[in-house]
Amino acid sequence: MNKRLRIEIQGTVQGVGFRPFVFQCAQQFELTGWILNNSHGVQLEVEGAQWQLDQFCQTVHQHLPPLAHVSSFESRMIPCQQSEHFEIRASECLSEQRAQIAADNHVCDACLAELFDADDRRFGYPFINCTDCGPRYSIVTAVPYDRSTTTMAAFELCELCHQEYQNPASRRFHAQPNACAQCGPQLQLFDGQAQALTEVDPLTETIRRLQAGQIVAIKGLGGYHLVVDGCNDHAVQRLRRRKQRDDKPFAVMSASLEQAERYAQISNDEARLLQGPQRPIVLLSQLAHNSLSPYVAPGQATVGVMLPYTPLHHLLLRDQFVALVMTSGNRSDEPMAYRDDDARDQLQGIADAFLSHNRPIQMRVDDSIVRMMAGQSLLLRRSRGYVPQAISLPVDFPRDAPVTLALGGELKNTLCLIRGGQAFLSQHLGDLTQPSAYEAFCAANHHLQALLQVQPQQLACDLHPDYASRRFADSQTEPLVKIQHHHAHLASCLVENGICQPCIGVIFDGLGYGADGQLWGGEFLVGDLHGYQRLGHLDYVAMPGGDAATREPYRMALSYLHHSFGRQLPELEVLSQIPHDHRQLLLLMLDRQLNSPLTSSCGRLFDAVAVLLGGPQQVSYEGQAAVELEMLIDDSTAEGDRCYPFEFSRTTPFVCDVRPLIRAIVDDLGAGVASSQISRRFHNTLAQVIVAAAQRIRCQHGLECVALSGGVFQNRYLVETTLRLLQKENFQVYRHHLVPPNDGGLSLGQAAIASVAAIHPCA
Ligand code: ZN
Ligand code: ZN
Ligand code: FE
Repeated sequence: MNKRLRIEIQGTVQGVGFRPFVFQCAQQFELTGWILNNSHGVQLEVEGAQWQLDQFCQTVHQHLPPLAHVSSFESRMIPCQQSEHFEIRASECLSEQRAQIAADNHVCDACLAELFDADDRRFGYPFINCTDCGPRYSIVTAVPYDRSTTTMAAFELCELCHQEYQNPASRRFHAQPNACAQCGPQLQLFDGQAQALTEVDPLTETIRRLQAGQIVAIKGLGGYHLVVDGCNDHAVQRLRRRKQRDDKPFAVMSASLEQAERYAQISNDEARLLQGPQRPIVLLSQLAHNSLSPYVAPGQATVGVMLPYTPLHHLLLRDQFVALVMTSGNRSDEPMAYRDDDARDQLQGIADAFLSHNRPIQMRVDDSIVRMMAGQSLLLRRSRGYVPQAISLPVDFPRDAPVTLALGGELKNTLCLIRGGQAFLSQHLGDLTQPSAYEAFCAANHHLQALLQVQPQQLACDLHPDYASRRFADSQTEPLVKIQHHHAHLASCLVENGICQPCIGVIFDGLGYGADGQLWGGEFLVGDLHGYQRLGHLDYVAMPGGDAATREPYRMALSYLHHSFGRQLPELEVLSQIPHDHRQLLLLMLDRQLNSPLTSSCGRLFDAVAVLLGGPQQVSYEGQAAVELEMLIDDSTAEGDRCYPFEFSRTTPFVCDVRPLIRAIVDDLGAGVASSQISRRFHNTLAQVIVAAAQRIRCQHGLECVALSGGVFQNRYLVETTLRLLQKENFQVYRHHLVPPNDGGLSLGQAAIASVAAIHPCA
């Protein structure tokens, strides 16, 4: 006896080959019925014997197409209709949009095989794709997802491509970006003055120029990269000079894992990340003697590596280079260029040539960055490959909360929209003090709302009165919830771990505006999505010159010394490097507390210690001093868990006095202890401070779980040591893995707190 099921599936199920997949499953189990796309996802009916229906449902669950992601699967029994075959029906448009757009995906193995098959009609075609792979988020202009709502709209399918597009048995059935050399986008090469080079084959000429050491701006999936041969010192140095980028490491791309293994150490987990569908930049340890130019990541023990993700990358890299530098196509700190005219304006004078193409990029999407830490992957930048994949909220999160848009922080900005129990984060948007990043922020805001077809009912932003995102919020009409920076970090970590209960939060970062108007950043909180208490923090120390102290860490070194020794400053090499008059001025500012805001920032403490150990007196990117301090640690020494003294006050909130720590470091410096050991002891001390604070809070509040968040927890040695020590004391530790611990994850926490506040205003 036959039965008939009506099934509704939601999630990322459109534009990912879901209907042909279901069509084939239905044929396999000899079921009749139909399937169609609607604005919620897909809807289908299947009719057959009970065992066939069971097997069908099981297969659908277990063998999803690679890009598909199911967030809800509901089925119910309906009367049989004795249908005779299974068909794919025309799409239905409902008033409300729930179907999700897929993230951009790397070229699949089947397409790759065709790309290098001389007999295939797409042999060597750099824009080959199918329903399992290719561009998605970066080319979508509107929903529902259809060819006409992508930047492929202008390319009319040729006869052969059209046949594939219409054939449910083809792996290009309804592949919206489907194309071939006859009908699709084409490469175009321009010289440094943006004159088209029509006499040469763009690909061959690009490879020739790269081999000759030239800088080529190459249009990729989410924007332009500046590309040079990663083994050519001269070329890499030229790129640094022209880009005015002194120290910040460049990422590289290699053709395969085997090629990358020539210069980097790759664990199994790291290999999995490199080859995963998102194809992020993975931070790897460099091998001691390798062929990579030392100017790729000067002074770094690590290097950011990615594998090719577009067909064009494969064509460029195959058999030609060990590694190509692939850095964002921009001038110093601006967001990467993604529009052709913009790229030519911005990159003229940097690039010797431009390898472009005529498929427009709708949304800029940077490369994502991941690092393995204590057996878990940690996102340092969440962008291409991950966006706009939804993040599920905890099971007891209120589903009926109003649609909330959170505007994030100032640096590493992202946006987050919460709708119906799911959070959607934008791609990395960058430093909003840059006008072009602020423009990207406005565009991404618009795009996110358009793709999700929702209007926010309330906004959430940071407490900081001077953030650009805050000024944006103030100019809008929706109700606004202001959220303390470190509470948002804590909430972000709780939410992605599915936790709604109160938890101890250890939030260490650069700077965030505190509830008392001071700059916080070394915080011990207890809280959940409803609220928080500040139970303790690192000592307040002055930042002479305010923001200048962030760019010039020697100011912080002087401030910590002044804090620890008063005017009896120890004789230190680093102090003598500060010009005498300037040093006297800074000390006067510290004595009189002039233009020296107070901060409890752990990031600034890192800066100070880095300078004491001979680190950079000035930094050219955020977190540089801390990165260099971490790198000093030599894992081979048998130094153990030795650490420096520190003290907690008996006040509420308790204060961690770091003066004993600074004095002990100065003693070690005087005794000629190696900086690798001092750095290690300093890291160990911070881990001990965290454990001692957690134990103290556990005694008072009976909480067993600790959430670690804030940019400082991008530090692998600190995370691994802290984790080990906390677990030894039987704490349950929550870390980030879906969103960054830095301010890139802030918007998720803000949105979650504001959503909950709207449902329980009195809590
Ligand atoms: Zn493919
Ligand atoms: Zn074609
Ligand atoms: Fe922060």
